[in-house]
Amino acid sequence: MQAAWQEMMEVLQKELSAPAYSSYLQHVLPLRLEEDKLILSAPSDFVKDWLVRRFGQRIEISMAELLGRRVALQFEVHPVKAPAEPEPQVEEVAPPAQDPIPPKRGARAIRDIADLEDFSSSPLNRKYTFDNYIVGRSNYISHAASLAVAKAPAKGQYNPLFIYGGVGLGKTHLMQAIGHHINAQCNSPLEIVYVSGENFLYQVVRCIREDRMTAFRRMYRNVDVWLVDDIQYICNAERTEVEFFHIFNTLYDQGKQIVICSDKPPKELDLTEPRLTSRFEWGLITYIDSPDLEHRIAILQRRAQAEGVEVDQEVLQYLAEKIRSNIRSLEGALTRLLAMSSLDGRKINLDLAAETVRYYSTSAAEPVKVEAKTIIDVVAEHFNMPVDNILGKKRNKEIVVPRQIAMYLTREMGQLSYPDIGREFGRDYTTVIHSFEKIKAEIQKDNALKETISDLRSKAHARS
Ligand code: ADP
Ligand code: MG
Repeated sequence: MQAAWQEMMEVLQKELSAPAYSSYLQHVLPLRLEEDKLILSAPSDFVKDWLVRRFGQRIEISMAELLGRRVALQFEVHPVKAPAEPEPQVEEVAPPAQDPIPPKRGARAIRDIADLEDFSSSPLNRKYTFDNYIVGRSNYISHAASLAVAKAPAKGQYNPLFIYGGVGLGKTHLMQAIGHHINAQCNSPLEIVYVSGENFLYQVVRCIREDRMTAFRRMYRNVDVWLVDDIQYICNAERTEVEFFHIFNTLYDQGKQIVICSDKPPKELDLTEPRLTSRFEWGLITYIDSPDLEHRIAILQRRAQAEGVEVDQEVLQYLAEKIRSNIRSLEGALTRLLAMSSLDGRKINLDLAAETVRYYSTSAAEPVKVEAKTIIDVVAEHFNMPVDNILGKKRNKEIVVPRQIAMYLTREMGQLSYPDIGREFGRDYTTVIHSFEKIKAEIQKDNALKETISDLRSKAHARS
């Protein structure tokens, strides 16, 4: 029976993504045969249900073939010591890509991970394909390199491919386009993992806390294409950098493709692990610049076309002239224009465009960042305590809660990474994550706290 089980598992294993397999199936073991029943052990009810739902019938059929008679599956739940059992997904810190779909062909790996609530990967955004990517002077090298990687992952010298550039210039789009392309082209499904630096950091901290690092590393063992977005978020997070370094090396040594996006070139990243910087320089580094006027117009044209709306060239030109720094704002302005026209039934013309652009007049509608210092001041005043209390080491409740609130708000309003916030408060980034989660959970339960926070938020806004 053991042999039959082994044989069947090997078949299943080939079909399933490795992380899913190792985390779940690996801990399902055949215990004994009782007449027409096959008794299996599962580490938890969750795994049991998952297995029955996903593979129940398949297992019964395969086992019937292998054993020469029909058997029904029965389970006993035996928790295993190494916690490999599924747990609720780590809460997303960053908003998930909108409109996520698992890419179509060969994407089984990604889909499995998603429906297992595993957290190694986020789904790719349907919109981010090469077809929708407009190439211009500012991005053609990054585009060409990405396309080369997508066509032949890990076959060329572009490993790792490191793409950097400012906010909203199309790094994430390009990176996900690589994922989509590989999914669509490859005959054999490749395991593609897309993760933001921030989520990676979060996962590491979470796995350390829950003593699941081994499982975490194992998840990465069979990844074929690793897409790491916004790597800057792991900078200065020592332990996370080290984990990243190990996974990087493992994948690189196995000839797997790695693509990294960042807001800065490697040598300007504030990494505590210098070996990482040199790794990033092993492959190809490309840069995405701000798009020129022509390019911006082309992007708007494509966008309007996709929305199925006719927009005069002069209107597009006007928007493109006014909004320069960032493609996200450019798209936002067009969306706003179209919305204003359809909601108010107004004609799309230069007047309406001028009205739209007014909202974008200040530095292309970048959301206002609030300084940590402002938030700390506001919180200290509100709780009637000196700033030193918040930044100090005292641990009584009257101080700890305001401190956590200040960290929470800094995270929310300051657009800083966890390690950055840690430095502002003189604390480790894991403490910041803990505080953030704590307050986030409390707000759900405690209306008074929710109001306090909203009050503090307005005060902090008013001062910046
Ligand atoms: P980044 O990751 O660099 O901050 P994104 O990839 O999120 O930027 O791009 C911001 C928005 O602009 C996305 O909606 C994306 O689809 C769009 N975009 C960026 N570059 C292009 C391009 N070259 N062609 C079409 N759309 C683009
Ligand atoms: Mg991005």
